[in-house]
Amino acid sequence: MDSIALSSDNVYKVIDVLRSVLGEGEVNLHHPIFRGNESKYLNDCIDSTYVSSVGPYVEKFEKDLAAFTGAKYAISIVNGTAALHLALLLAGVNRGDEVLVPTLTFIGTPNAISYCGAIPHFVDSESITFGIDPFKLRTWLNKIAHIKNGMCINHQTGKVIRAIVPVHIFGHPCAIGELTELANEFHISLVEDAAEAFGSWYKGRHAGTFGDLGVLSFNGNKIITTGGGGAILTDNQELAIRAKHLSTTAKKTHLWSFDHDSIGFNYRMPNINAALGCAQLELMPEFLSSKRLLFNAYTSAFEFISGLKILKEPSDSKSNYWLQAIVLDPQNSHLKEQILQLSNNAKIMTRPIWKLNHHQDPYKMCPRADDLTIAESLIGRVINIPSSAGYI
Ligand SMILES: *Cc1c(COP(=O)(O)O)cnc(C)c1O
Repeated sequence: MDSIALSSDNVYKVIDVLRSVLGEGEVNLHHPIFRGNESKYLNDCIDSTYVSSVGPYVEKFEKDLAAFTGAKYAISIVNGTAALHLALLLAGVNRGDEVLVPTLTFIGTPNAISYCGAIPHFVDSESITFGIDPFKLRTWLNKIAHIKNGMCINHQTGKVIRAIVPVHIFGHPCAIGELTELANEFHISLVEDAAEAFGSWYKGRHAGTFGDLGVLSFNGNKIITTGGGGAILTDNQELAIRAKHLSTTAKKTHLWSFDHDSIGFNYRMPNINAALGCAQLELMPEFLSSKRLLFNAYTSAFEFISGLKILKEPSDSKSNYWLQAIVLDPQNSHLKEQILQLSNNAKIMTRPIWKLNHHQDPYKMCPRADDLTIAESLIGRVINIPSSAGYI
């Protein structure tokens, strides 16, 4: 077939192609799929009366997560944002510190930084992985920061740059190898936001296992769900013990006494959510292959339209293909709204990428790199398309 160049006259072809892959009817962006042991484990949980703060499914889910990801420890948490908050505290983020974070991420990432009393410092992304650009970041840090007493000081603001939070956008691993090196070199702790990347690997290692701590989310729109939920991954036993302790109100182990050794959090995952998670985890191999097949189907279906592409996993990586995306060539960014309009009119749910965080009201005054051009460009030309497992 001859290829056609995308233009405002043939935008409807994009909708035709989506239909050819997805079939008839209303299609949402992402929905959970329960076709395993979900009801069985949930009923078991209810029958046992252990639906809340303790129970055997919590321990099983944590063990299964550790086995799946290869992390030594997994601590289940009430949601991904709370997991990030706790992970940042454990990484030593203090009030008044700066934390490097991509401006192109879900607002939950900078929110968790703010819960620590710390200040998000926004940096740019690159257009292959959609994650932090390590080369640009190095240039920026060389310009604004120096090392003093083993700490990275931003000499423009006088604050300590304590941590960096790389994000694996849509499940595609970012340049985490280079970012880990950079963090070590600049004495910055690394906490990975792998909320979207459960089931993604970078050079054979699971996302979320590169930094001191990594975070997953099991919200309803993620690759597997516990209703609401998250987890902290770490190889460090001491951090794992503290994560569990702080997430369970920092109560000292005792049969009846209420002794708490610090201000803890009620961030534990209830047993009933973990029960759902145990069942969902069993379906992961199926979800992963289904999502990869969907990516392949979109890629070949869109082959005859030039001027856009389907976002592909970076080399060296194996993505979970959680959320599929059309990336318009820069000269076609003016077609984004038209594609969103036509597809949503046709009851095919599509969405633009988030608004950049440095443009969000609470974050307008935060420090940021002088060059955020790639993030600015990407938000103008990325469209997420239906991505649930099970279309193919
Ligand atoms: C979903 C998500 C979170 C937050 O997870 P919740 O479980 O919804 O709190 C954080 N960061 C990113 C990049 C996410 O996509």
